[in-house]
Amino acid sequence: MNLKFLTLVLLGLVFPMAQAATATDSLVVYSARNEQLIKPMFDAYQKETGVSIKYVTDKAAPLMVRLKAEASATPADVLITVDAGNLWQAAKQGLLARVHSKVLEKNIPAHLRDPQGRWFGLSVRARTLVYNNKRIKPAQLSSYEQLADPKWKGRLCLRTSKKVYNQSLVATLIARVGEAKAEKIVRGWVANLATSVFSNDTKVMQAIAAGQCDVGIVNTYYYGRLLKKSPDLPLSLYWPNQTTSGVHVNVSGAGVVAASKHKKAAQAFLEWMSGATAQRLLADGNMEYPANPAIKPHAIVSAWGEFKQDTINLSSAGRLQVKAIKLMDRAGYK
Ligand code: FE
Repeated sequence: MNLKFLTLVLLGLVFPMAQAATATDSLVVYSARNEQLIKPMFDAYQKETGVSIKYVTDKAAPLMVRLKAEASATPADVLITVDAGNLWQAAKQGLLARVHSKVLEKNIPAHLRDPQGRWFGLSVRARTLVYNNKRIKPAQLSSYEQLADPKWKGRLCLRTSKKVYNQSLVATLIARVGEAKAEKIVRGWVANLATSVFSNDTKVMQAIAAGQCDVGIVNTYYYGRLLKKSPDLPLSLYWPNQTTSGVHVNVSGAGVVAASKHKKAAQAFLEWMSGATAQRLLADGNMEYPANPAIKPHAIVSAWGEFKQDTINLSSAGRLQVKAIKLMDRAGYK
């Protein structure tokens, strides 16, 4: 084999591979967020860059099982899901690549992303207090901790502890106040429940509106959705812990798949997701807050008022998830 021929062979072999690793005209996203929300973003990205996005939607758990099973053969480049607890699990299972990006580090506040760069929050949801504004005054409320006070006996409604949102809430509570104090608080919540736990946040709010209880803990976008349909419900949001730790927030977010064949293109897509166009589409599409603080929330969301958010790094929601589940179990929180 002469040298020229060998060079041609090597060029033929090496170049397509090198190119495949950097440039591509399409990306594959596995998304636990629904099509209605993500498709407008993907369409905008294709219009702007020419890169088309193919996607598979499912719940977070089956998508992670699928990524694991497909291993290096996966066609996926990006994973999108809700809750830092889920993103942390994906990272822990080795499903996400480390990304070092000046753009993402500038656009996404440090507490909303993995310190190791494996996932980035892209939209923010506050898990805050909601109360019946005909039955109680906001001055009666103050913090998540205070909902454990006996004065709320028979007046609190909560969603099930099986939901990752509550696991993340309790995990960050453990990170903040320690396990013993957190358990005391959760026991207090359980003692104050007006009725059995609910399967979703909307049912919690409906019970509060109906007077079955006075106060509960929900994600802001569910409040937005319910009030859009039923604007006359006697429900208001309350921002707790404003003189202490701030409101518990969580994210929907994304990471580059560890086995992606187009990591650079996937990173470029994530960077775009942290910019104005995508931030607005993603946040406004579900009445959430943009993760990028330079982008203003939708007018409906802004009208709920400004608040101080808890800036504890959300990786603690994952790191302490098992502890939180066990603690809630011990405390009798179903
Ligand atoms: Fe949700």
